[in-house]
Amino acid sequence: MNQLPAWLTDRTLSADIASLLAPENPMDIESLAAEARATTLRRFGRIISLYAPLYLSNFCSSGCIYCGFASDRKSPRRKLEPDEIEQELKAMKALGIGDVLLLTGERTGNAGYDYLRRAIEMAARHMPRVAVEAFPMSVAEYHGLAEAGCTGMTIYQETYDPDNYRDLHRWGPKRDFLERLETPERALAGGIRTVGIGALLGLAEPVSEALALARHVRHLCKTYWKAGVSVSFPRIRPQEGGYQPPFPVDDQFLARMIFAFRIAMPDVDLVLSTRESPRFRDGMAGLGITRMSIASKTTVGGYHDPKSAGSTQFEVSDNRSAEEFCRALRSKNIEPVFKNWDTAYNEPVTGEEAACH
Ligand code: SF4
Repeated sequence: MNQLPAWLTDRTLSADIASLLAPENPMDIESLAAEARATTLRRFGRIISLYAPLYLSNFCSSGCIYCGFASDRKSPRRKLEPDEIEQELKAMKALGIGDVLLLTGERTGNAGYDYLRRAIEMAARHMPRVAVEAFPMSVAEYHGLAEAGCTGMTIYQETYDPDNYRDLHRWGPKRDFLERLETPERALAGGIRTVGIGALLGLAEPVSEALALARHVRHLCKTYWKAGVSVSFPRIRPQEGGYQPPFPVDDQFLARMIFAFRIAMPDVDLVLSTRESPRFRDGMAGLGITRMSIASKTTVGGYHDPKSAGSTQFEVSDNRSAEEFCRALRSKNIEPVFKNWDTAYNEPVTGEEAACH
């Protein structure tokens, strides 16, 4: 493997998070929660912006041991055809969703770059904000996605431990640790405005993962100082394959991690998906989390066809409808925001400007 970037081991970039997570830190969990709540209120107000994932395809050539879409899973494979993408988008729009995350597995002949770009063009006709969570691409390819109407990109490093990474990614293009690590920078250089990063919690020792993630955020914010960076906190969920995480993360640690990131990084969007239970999501709303997924379907075609067959990437834990979830937020005096973006902002930007919008 080529040399790791210097930022990955630069402890000065994560010293504040290390201190907030240290067992000897005098702040107990209630004090951290109070400070995280005050910071969230000051910087973001009483709102949670909402998005929903749209699974375009479950074809994949990689063998990630923790994923229900890995190429050795037996469940049927399919991708959405253009008319089905339209139906999915219309079904999502009917739920009030205006912010969509388009997902695919690794690049395959069935669902490659041109397919993804066409899906973005279709989604951009329906939704004010379109983001992707797909395979790593080149700067030129990201530029093409930005031109098609894509403004955001999510890519989790899964684990920041290179040895662990090699063992977990058994085959396929995703085995390349550095290629993945450098992907958010290529996306920003290509004109994508916001990047979302995270570690898949449970794969490796969680404090080390939190510190490496913090360094990654700081590196991106420093290098691309006008970019929007968001942080997700996915924990491994049950999936076809039955992988059991060697470092399970409990609610107490995850809450502490979220509070630490909010206190140390007041302006960064923190994201919690429907992987988490209703109780945990309701508890975290307003305490640091500013962005959540809603009414998620993790099967291909799940919005317009609830009986849609095929594997899920993982089991959803919060199955509440959009109305139920919004009611729960409002009961906590938090306003759910379905549209936090306008297509007028979608003009791609390039070069220096792209890196620093
Ligand atoms: S995590 Fe992504 S790349 Fe890995 S098997 Fe699943 S869909 Fe494929």
